[in-house]
This record gives sequence, C-alpha cells and structure tokens, in this order.
Amino acid sequence: MTDDDVQVRLRRTLEAIPAYVPGKPAQPEAGQTTYKLSSNENPYPPLPAVQAVVEQTAASMNRYPDMFATGLVQAIADHLGVPAEYVATGTGSVGVLGQIVAATCGEGDEVVFAWRSFEAYPIVAHAAGAVPVAVPLTADARHDLPAMAAAVTDRTRLVLVCTPNNPTGPVVHTAELVDFLDQVPRDVLVVIDEAYVEFVQDPQAPDALALLRERPNVAVLRTFSKAYGLAGLRVGFAVAHPPVAAALRKTAVPFGVSGIAQDAAVASLAASAELAERVQALVIERERVVTALAGQGWQLPATQANFVWFPLGEDTPAFAAACGEAGLVVRPYAADGVRVTIGETAANDRLLEVAAAWRVRG
Ligand SMILES: *Cc1c(COP(=O)(O)O)cnc(C)c1O
Repeated sequence: MTDDDVQVRLRRTLEAIPAYVPGKPAQPEAGQTTYKLSSNENPYPPLPAVQAVVEQTAASMNRYPDMFATGLVQAIADHLGVPAEYVATGTGSVGVLGQIVAATCGEGDEVVFAWRSFEAYPIVAHAAGAVPVAVPLTADARHDLPAMAAAVTDRTRLVLVCTPNNPTGPVVHTAELVDFLDQVPRDVLVVIDEAYVEFVQDPQAPDALALLRERPNVAVLRTFSKAYGLAGLRVGFAVAHPPVAAALRKTAVPFGVSGIAQDAAVASLAASAELAERVQALVIERERVVTALAGQGWQLPATQANFVWFPLGEDTPAFAAACGEAGLVVRPYAADGVRVTIGETAANDRLLEVAAAWRVRG
C-alpha cells in the first residue's frame, strides 16, 4: 500500500498550516559544553520540592487525573486573587489557545494578531478553519495596535495580544492597550498572552488582570512553562469572565492536564518566593546582556522577556550558524532574525563573545 491509496478526506484548511521548523542542533567542537537557548526555557533544574511531588504523584499514574484540576484551579485563583470560576486550565497555554479558538471561531471567522509573533497563533487559527489576520509589527518590533484595531472586521471573533512579544521582546504599554480595547467591539474576545509576565519590569506594561476586571471581553493567558520551569509538563491557564472560562472547559481535552502536571503546578505556586529569586536572577542576567550588546553597538528591540531578538534579516542563518559553532542552539526565524534565550551565565557570556565577533567581522 502507498500513500496514494489513502483516500480519506482531510480538511483542506490543514494544507495552510505552516510546517514547524525546529532550530538545528548545535554542532559543537569536541569537549565544548552546549547550551539550548532556542525555546525560552528556564535554565534552572526543578526545585527539589516540586520534583518530590512529581515522584509521589507518579505512583498513581494508573488513575485518571482530576478532570477539573480542582486543586490547581483553586491555587491559581488564590495566587491571583480571582474567583475560581474565572480560571480554565489546559495542556500548556498553547493547549488553552486551541480551546480559545475552538470556543470562539468557526470556519471563516478571523483571528487578528501581530506578526511576527508567537508561531502557534497562525497554526491554531488554521486548525480551527479560521482565517489568521497577521498585522505587521512596527519598525521597532512592537505591536502596531492602531493597525490591529483597523484590522478588526465583523468577521473578527478573536484578537491575540502577545506582551512581551515572542520573539521580539517588547511589551505593549497600558495607554495604547486601553485605546485599543476601547475600539474593539464588546463581542470580540481579546486575549492578552502573558507567557513572560514574570520577567517584566517596565512600569508602562499593562496590568492585564485589572483590565480584565473592567472589561468583559478581555482574557489573560498564562503558563507554567517559562518562569515556573515546567515546560515539559504542559500546563497553562486562562483567566476569563465565567461564561468564557466555562466555554474553555467545554473545548478542553478531557483529562488533558496530567495529575503530575497539576501537582507540580500547585507545588510551584507554593514555592513562588523561591522561584521569584530565580526569575530575578534571570532578569539581572538579561539586563547585563542587553547592556553589553548595546555597548557592542547592537540596536535591539527593548526586551522585557527572558530572550533577546537580533533583527538580522538576510544574515539570520549566518548568525545562527556562528552561534551553533560556539555551542549555542538559538532560534532563527527565516529572513527575520534570531531569538536567543537568556540562560546560564556561561551561556550568556558565550553569546556576548559571538555577538562581539560578529560586529567586528560585519
Ligand atoms: C512559550 C509561550 C507560550 C507557552 O506555551 P506553553 O504551551 O504554555 O508551553 C505561550 N505564549 C507564548 C507567546 C509563548 O512564547
């Protein structure tokens, strides 16, 4: 039998889904330590207390998890100071994003987002048969919120605002976001994707939860994958007004968030203070890297996340290759630029060496 024998009718919309292009593995010289700076992961190993909980829960993996993630939902609600009915969980915030699109969009409905932004956005839109409407970033790699407001039509059901923006790093500012929200019809859901919110220090960054309290069409997306260091366990959540949160529970994969992930997330919230120290150390490293790169003459977008963006255009593959030779796995985006995660101090030092050599060469 060959593939041609498969006559199953698959949805045409899947043909539009862009193929995922993972970063190439580094090809280090013998004896060189390599660092993975390509997925914005937390470089710290799990906290011992979190690891212990995971091992304990693993002993009951023959059982289905709590379908409603009751303990986790309550812990998130307590942590954020919102009622539990506002919280909906999923298999990573990408999973929650899929639930959001499934809950809001049918065939031909439009999803507005900035571009370049998180690569999952066009994928989840296409998968639902919705039409992605990608609005170019400004020249300084920020959301162009006036252009996004202008892109909203009567087919728009969902707007995604990524702040800080992955992969470029800047946050949207409160004033411009409020202006934007004032222009979006009340029946269009605006999701503020705050995957990196714990790393933000800019006082002009929005308080998304405060905006949500005032506006029934705003939802906030958060994850345990980045600052909380649980990327491998797949757990994220949305905070939304109860009718929206209830819809997200309906479109979730039943029992999607494993018991291990639920318990690890609860334990991580309990260890918030300890994790905040790690986040603070990463922010200090980010500022060190940003200052050093500026000193080398680089003009980069103002990052508030745990990564930096090199807008290198056609030089993107060459810079990524130079990083690879130095043992750094980074994330090139076609002819746009290279995103590099802030990692261990030694990894960041090596990035600064590659970047300095690139300036001299270039
Ligand atoms: C990493 C990331 C996420 C989180 O993905 P998970 O599925 O929770 O691991 C969500 N949004 C953005 C913009 C991200 O960069």
